[in-house]
Amino acid sequence: MCCESKRRFLLLYATQKGQAKAIAEEIWQQAGAHGLEADMHCISEMDKYNLETEKDPVVIVISTTGTGDPPDTARKFVKKIQDKTLPPDHFAHLQYGLLGLGDSEYMFFCNGGRTVDRRLQELGAQHFYDTGLADDCVGLELVVDPWIDGLWLALKEALQLQKEKESMNSAVDGVSSSLSTALHTVHELNLSSEVQNLKLGDGGASGSDVLSQKLDDINHVASARDAEPSLVHSVPPVSQSALNIPALPPEYIEVQFLDAQGENPHLSSLISEGTTFEVPVTKAVQLTREDAIKTALLLELDIADTTFEYQPGDAFCVVCPNNVSEVEELLHILGLSEKGDDLVCVKVKQGTKKKGASRPQHIPERSTLKFVLMWCLEIRAIPKKAFLRALVECTSDVGEKRRLQELCSRQGASDYTRFIRDSNVCLLDLLHAFPSCKPSLSLLIEHLPKLQARSYSVSSSNLYQPGRLCFVFNVVEFPAGPSRAVSWKGVCTGWLAELVAPLLRPSKNTLDAKGESSSTEKISIFPRPNNAFHLPADPSVPFIMVGPGTGISPFIGFLQHRQKLREQHPEWKFGETWLFFGCRHQDRDYLFKQLRCFLENGTLTHLKVCFSRDSSTAEVAPPKYVQDVLRLCAKEVARVLLKDRGYFYVCGDKKHMADDVSDAIVDILSMEMEADKLEAMKILAMLREAKRYLQDVWS
Ligand code: FAD
Repeated sequence: MCCESKRRFLLLYATQKGQAKAIAEEIWQQAGAHGLEADMHCISEMDKYNLETEKDPVVIVISTTGTGDPPDTARKFVKKIQDKTLPPDHFAHLQYGLLGLGDSEYMFFCNGGRTVDRRLQELGAQHFYDTGLADDCVGLELVVDPWIDGLWLALKEALQLQKEKESMNSAVDGVSSSLSTALHTVHELNLSSEVQNLKLGDGGASGSDVLSQKLDDINHVASARDAEPSLVHSVPPVSQSALNIPALPPEYIEVQFLDAQGENPHLSSLISEGTTFEVPVTKAVQLTREDAIKTALLLELDIADTTFEYQPGDAFCVVCPNNVSEVEELLHILGLSEKGDDLVCVKVKQGTKKKGASRPQHIPERSTLKFVLMWCLEIRAIPKKAFLRALVECTSDVGEKRRLQELCSRQGASDYTRFIRDSNVCLLDLLHAFPSCKPSLSLLIEHLPKLQARSYSVSSSNLYQPGRLCFVFNVVEFPAGPSRAVSWKGVCTGWLAELVAPLLRPSKNTLDAKGESSSTEKISIFPRPNNAFHLPADPSVPFIMVGPGTGISPFIGFLQHRQKLREQHPEWKFGETWLFFGCRHQDRDYLFKQLRCFLENGTLTHLKVCFSRDSSTAEVAPPKYVQDVLRLCAKEVARVLLKDRGYFYVCGDKKHMADDVSDAIVDILSMEMEADKLEAMKILAMLREAKRYLQDVWS
């Protein structure tokens, strides 16, 4: 009994989109094979664990959301541990290992994990295992897989140490507890939990994931031995390797087709983040010329009849469906074309081996089959290795089976990265490439993530246009590639572009295009408040805005707001305002030429614009990028930031733009203060800390 309890560890996950949870479940599942037992909980279930009294090692898997925030499910937890009155030895008894998930395309990589890690350290908790920081940009598995592999030994050592400590304590207390027994137990534990190394032809492991096919039998692969590898073909050494493949994830969903008609649930029932509002699109303007490299659209929504509220600088979310022809194609491949409008009932499979199995929150218990595929599942998601592993079981062709096994195996890790992750392969691409693979609907529900609502920055002011909300976006386009014959548009931006096509009028490049169309198109939105990216509370404080491309969007809202405030309060003192905007071509994608109006009416004090692809005949080439223009204005920028205690805002769709801008600011500060770079970096860090240097960057 005592030994049993010593094998336990506490496993907490804090997830936003389900990845941290899936990884925690993987750890939970593997634990058994290592003679350990994970007591797994969502970090928000604070009534089910107690870190204040926790003696066993704790493993935390935590993702990052927004601009470096911990996931919503971790908010309460973070608030609790950030209590400034906690003493520095509050968690001195705690040993933990932390795996942070993030995406280096975004600012503040893995900040959710880093924040928790830093605070636990401040409160005296000890690492029993090095922190892992996994990057979704290059593939989470590059860090996650080796981190989990190393976790078991570290856990056993932590448990052993803990046991030794307890034995010592008991000895001091005069209780006879034998250390050698404890060590013996741990030794046994080590032996019983060796990592299973699955070898080709390892006959003893029936029903496991051992691959027993002889390679010579796999003509499919053999014939491609000397060819280039691809999604469907492998070459040596992968094609000749014994494979370590993940354990088959237990099935846990059951789908019943009902012989009944019925209504689909309201979209708001799919959203756990708050109230959704269904609002009409009242205007659509194409801001770019036809020959621009990207198409930027501005949409205006009518929120007058709702309680939806926003401040300039806020972002909000748009609920979007998958592409209808992709859904129809999927139904066709699954052999369910005739059943798209049938009601289905989704339940947890009786007797499933999955711990704590429950119907995913984003899947209604009853809806039509089409509804599930259109609105609930991210069918374009890059399939995870566990999904590939499960697809192996639904594939009849031996060659295809082997290739899927390779792609989810350790030996095929670089093929997975190259042909799946970096090629942005999705389920439909796989089903085309492996035609004998016929997954069930329940498998898709088990493995495809939730179709996420997309975020957009508000590009208007509620003072300037009461009852209206505008936003600006680029229609994302993905070119055709080796695994896909046709080009694709982004899920949400492609859908929006199609939805508003009848409303679209070519750009007059005006902010105040009058005359509304009689559109009846509605979209569902919900708020995503941003705590910091707002105008300074004191209007007399000067500020600088840097927003190339669609990054200008929130600043239009700032300027509209400021213009109204100036009209309504002529007696107030207003600080100077700077806007740095950049685009490719002056005549093709200068999104808001009417920025000049803000200059003319004094709302904007300085407007600095640059064009990266226009050629110039000037003797001295004009600056190309916003960071170049910032450098030209070094003195003023430094004055606003340092002397006038102003604010600095950066917004845009590329992290490297934000990095280039912050590099420029470091150079400017260092030059103007005659300080070294390190000193300038410290000042910038201080400005960030004081929330006077604010970024809103997406990818
Ligand atoms: P998706 O279908 O989601 O595709 C986008 C991403 O998927 C790509 O970036 C890429 O990573 C990947 N991808 C999928 N398939 C492929 C492929 N075949 N090849 C290459 N990559 C692929 N956007 C704006 O335009 N304006 C804004 O004001 C704005 N504000 C934002 C504010 C916040 C707080 C956040 C987080 C994001 C913001 N975004 C904004 C980004 C926006 O949310 C969406 O990500 C963007 O519009 C694309 O959505 P989509 O569904 O059209 O594209």
